[in-house]
Amino acid sequence: MSLYWSDLVASLTPYVPGEQPRLPDLVKLNTNENPYPPSPRVLEAIRQEIGGGLRLYPDPEAARLKNAIARYYRVLPGQVFVGNGSDEVLGHAFQGLLKHDRPLLFPDISYSFYPVYCGLYGITQRTLALNDRFEIDVDDYLNAPDCGAVIFPNPNAPTGCLLPLAEIERLLAGKPDVAVVVDEAYIDFAGQESMSAIALVDRHPNLLVVQTLSKSRSLAGLRVGFAVGHASLIEALERIKNSFNSYPLDRLAIAGAVAAMEDHAYFESTRAAVIHSRERLVRDLSDLGFAVLPSAANFIFARHPDHDAGELASALRARSIIVRHFRQARIAQFLRISIGNDAQCAALTTALREIVGDPRNESP
Ligand SMILES: *Cc1c(COP(=O)(O)O)cnc(C)c1O
Repeated sequence: MSLYWSDLVASLTPYVPGEQPRLPDLVKLNTNENPYPPSPRVLEAIRQEIGGGLRLYPDPEAARLKNAIARYYRVLPGQVFVGNGSDEVLGHAFQGLLKHDRPLLFPDISYSFYPVYCGLYGITQRTLALNDRFEIDVDDYLNAPDCGAVIFPNPNAPTGCLLPLAEIERLLAGKPDVAVVVDEAYIDFAGQESMSAIALVDRHPNLLVVQTLSKSRSLAGLRVGFAVGHASLIEALERIKNSFNSYPLDRLAIAGAVAAMEDHAYFESTRAAVIHSRERLVRDLSDLGFAVLPSAANFIFARHPDHDAGELASALRARSIIVRHFRQARIAQFLRISIGNDAQCAALTTALREIVGDPRNESP
């Protein structure tokens, strides 16, 4: 606390990002980064952009990037907004679309940044409990007595569970008077076919879909996110952005992000590799007695019936493997484990086998 702080600053409870320790030989499975490097074309495009041109401001509209995203998703450039990571895009959505007199609804277990934005922007929030399979029940939202807007991640974080598009469409159709933001940070890992709710934006003017290049395109360090929705929702975000920072994406970020959206082959092969590793890891951990929620993301959410999750996380850390453990009601016995490359997944499985023992090797 300081004499110089505003009342707002004094009232904030900021988000705490997953730790980024810089230790050699660390198996880092705690922040859902992609284990594969960005596309070589991305690195080449960024190199090409380095030069005297950095003297000049970037395009405030980032038109090249909006066009590339619009081409990829077969929407109009006027239906696309881009920002400095999807966290910034979400922030603008909270301020510009989700703040109303009636409360913003989101799941009790979801992205822990949402309550932080509510605090920053003075938004009334109400959380609705996931069902006992840790799924979003759309009826809870449709039946909520008081609803100013809705946001949820899909797949949800940190559970990894996917809400089918038909259920999202039922919500959109049942609540046509409220904005619904679907945070698709992990949607590219849901399957080879696109499961994105972007397919619904032309039919539902209340839908904003937010995505990021941080996870499925291996660019967490470049900070690029985007939103797709009806042009009037996009205009709301542009009005906030142009009242806050006209140049959220720098020249290197625009060049790299365009190349990332255009390198289809690299994107398809790395996401297929992550999905494949996830399926194998689910089998291996299930064999060790873990219960693993069905994951459509680049992480899994797992618990062991006989071992405390906090103790498992510490035992893994002692072996230089870090995973995420949330000391939060309902999920305190779960670990969220990012999907690494094959060597990292194997190191995790080996360590957990040492810690919990292999039930198949135990005599009855
Ligand atoms: C990682 C993540 C984001 C933020 O991604 P950035 O684009 O890196 O800011 C947003 N929502 C969810 C649910 C995430 O897990």
